[in-house]
Amino acid sequence: MNSLNLTHDPKARSWLASANGSDFPIQNLPYGRCRRLGRQEAWRCCVAIGDQVLDLTLLATQSAWLSVPGVNTALAAAAVQAASRDLRDLMRMGTDAWHALRVAMFLALREDASSDVQQQLKTALLAQSEAEIGMPVQVGEYTDFYTSLHHARNVGMAIGNGGQVAPNFFWMPIAYHGRASSLGVQQRLHRPMGQAIAPGQEQPTYGPSQRLDYELEMAIYIGQDNDWGSPVAMDRAESHIFGMGLLNDWSARDIQFWEMAPLGPFQGKNFATSLSPWIVTMEALAPFRLPFSRADEHPQPLPYLDGQDLRSHGGLDIGLSVSLQTAKMRELGSPAQEISKTNFKYQHWCVSQMVVQHTAGGCNLHAGDVLGTGTVSGPTAPEAGAIIELAKAGKEPITLGNGEQRSFLLDGDAIVLRGVCEREGHVRIGFGECVGEVLPAETN
Ligand code: CA
Repeated sequence: MNSLNLTHDPKARSWLASANGSDFPIQNLPYGRCRRLGRQEAWRCCVAIGDQVLDLTLLATQSAWLSVPGVNTALAAAAVQAASRDLRDLMRMGTDAWHALRVAMFLALREDASSDVQQQLKTALLAQSEAEIGMPVQVGEYTDFYTSLHHARNVGMAIGNGGQVAPNFFWMPIAYHGRASSLGVQQRLHRPMGQAIAPGQEQPTYGPSQRLDYELEMAIYIGQDNDWGSPVAMDRAESHIFGMGLLNDWSARDIQFWEMAPLGPFQGKNFATSLSPWIVTMEALAPFRLPFSRADEHPQPLPYLDGQDLRSHGGLDIGLSVSLQTAKMRELGSPAQEISKTNFKYQHWCVSQMVVQHTAGGCNLHAGDVLGTGTVSGPTAPEAGAIIELAKAGKEPITLGNGEQRSFLLDGDAIVLRGVCEREGHVRIGFGECVGEVLPAETN
């Protein structure tokens, strides 16, 4: 796991004024893909810094910024070359290469960088307002976990099973395999059509979902591959994680609950899943770690899901929020209204345990694969990560500041997820926003 180093220096500031105090200071340096607005050129690997992006394809053609004291010049040069081809090439190189490139970019953007280096960097900067933001990486496969006990209990209560949680939840992080094809950023998604059965009815009907929901989750981006047949052990698990982002697992609850037994979610989930555009690296998250512990009333993890690193700093302190902008708010120019706030630290299972569980039978993960963490909900009612929990499955609609009410999402509703890491003695870093908007159903 990453320990603190010069790139976490809380006093370090950038010569790029917009970086200081933003979601993307030099202590963050998250990766994504952009291209110049209005051009149909190929996506380029970029790093967000303040209100700009650093185009690594352009930066890879320069060299003075790599030849400064403190930089592993050869490794950082190989790393930026790899990233400029495809972010997955950098992901496959492993932690030493990720660190070398981070140090080089940090020093080149720090306020004491030489004017020559600053000049080189400026040739590779593009204003975010002039950039089209793409998927942060080409995602090969997507798996969605289910790791919040509060979410599991809240949903159980809302649908009338008394908050019962299946016994396996307490022994391992459980998941289903999803679809990578319908992942996207800044999605404008159609309300899904599907089959559902209304309460008290004997036969299902086919039509637009009446119970459309969001799920506040985090995305784990796999870095290094593991070979087929080679499980990843706990002490190596985090070296296979490149970074994290925000994820909205749009969910059609009526379709989902009718179809889910016995094989799990299908049409209720596969129509859309939204990602935030930037991957915050595990190294950037190093100041925001927490020890893992398990309350006495729950079973301790089996040995293959336990370890010293997990116990000392397996958890993550990431503040998360959900905001809703209705069509009416948009018409009046009102911003999205925050409807819940929670923290990733409440998850029952940690990111390393998800990687270990996924690979335990020999399943191979590849660079660019996404693991959703499952909905993030906290211990109190306002900390719920889905509207089915906030509005008690429609029984207690939420009332917004302008008087509008919601049991589930209506056409024209936009959901904005945000994530921020803040801790005394460290520079605040952000994940940016995961945005998506619901459009009316498209019938077939
Ligand atoms: Ca989910």
